[in-house]
Amino acid sequence: HRSEVEARTPVFYEEALGAAADRRQKLRKALVQAIPAGELRLVWQPLFDTRSYRMVAAEALLRWDCGALGHEVMPGELLPLATELGMLAEIDFWVLWEALATKRRWAGRAGAPATVAINISGATLRAPGFPAQVRAALDQQGVAAEELDIEIPEDIPARDIQALAQNLEALRAMGVRLSLDDFGGGVSAMAHLVQLPVQRVKLDRSITHRLPEGRQEAAVLGAVAALARSLGIELVAEGVEREVQASTLRAEGCFIMQGWLYGRPLAADLLVPPEG
Ligand code: C2E
Ligand code: MG
Ligand code: MG
Ligand code: MG
Repeated sequence: HRSEVEARTPVFYEEALGAAADRRQKLRKALVQAIPAGELRLVWQPLFDTRSYRMVAAEALLRWDCGALGHEVMPGELLPLATELGMLAEIDFWVLWEALATKRRWAGRAGAPATVAINISGATLRAPGFPAQVRAALDQQGVAAEELDIEIPEDIPARDIQALAQNLEALRAMGVRLSLDDFGGGVSAMAHLVQLPVQRVKLDRSITHRLPEGRQEAAVLGAVAALARSLGIELVAEGVEREVQASTLRAEGCFIMQGWLYGRPLAADLLVPPEG
């Protein structure tokens, strides 16, 4: 006859499925209220220039202190739910606003980064009104366009490139900086790097973390570095955790690093403390 463990496995499985569905249902209900409830916040991770030993930018990463659940929810879980609920645009705008407010609060503090980088979803980036919304937010917060860097997700459907490129050109004309995020990690096309008006390209952690041993990853690094160099685009490595990764990247001409070796994401006042 079946062992006790085998007999009970399906029950555990069903319970686990039920618990996961319960959790999602709870999160869905809570997310609708998260912005008015003040449960969203940004943490900041430095982009560090290994030549000047300076933080050249800081990237805002979203966190949700979900009251209903009693703990923090990460973007990997939050963003799919927000997409499902049609809340991405609202969240993107909250991030833009909050990041600019932080940039203004940092102004004049020692060690403040020159630019703040934010992640904006593809749907928002290609929405017709987006460049004007950015312009208005910059004006209202009193932040210069050159102090904002927008990171573009790599998973852009080819059919959307036209609408996206138009908005990106408008943002560039204002002076906003643009970065291509997570490059080399998934379906990112070399064509995006050539076609889109970006100043920076970020090598995905899935490449960085297999350096220096991974042969394919080393080949991707070499190709991206050569392309970035010939296009005059700055290369940044994500997810740098070990010294040997940094030295491998530097040997290929990548000098700007982001990752735990240089700093974990921190609250704004911890990354750039107030004076006195
Ligand atoms: P991303 O933009 O590529 O951000 C980098 C992610 O890698 C962050 O995860 C960061 O905490 C993590 N990370 C940084 N350095 C290291 C490292 O050395 N080792 C390891 N293992 N991980 C590292 P996080 O905060 O969970 O964000 C995940 C993704 O969610 C982001 O990837 C970005 O695509 C998206 N995201 C985050 N915040 C926002 C946001 O405000 N709006 C939108 N639309 N997307 C966001
Ligand atoms: Mg990013
Ligand atoms: Mg990234
Ligand atoms: Mg990434």
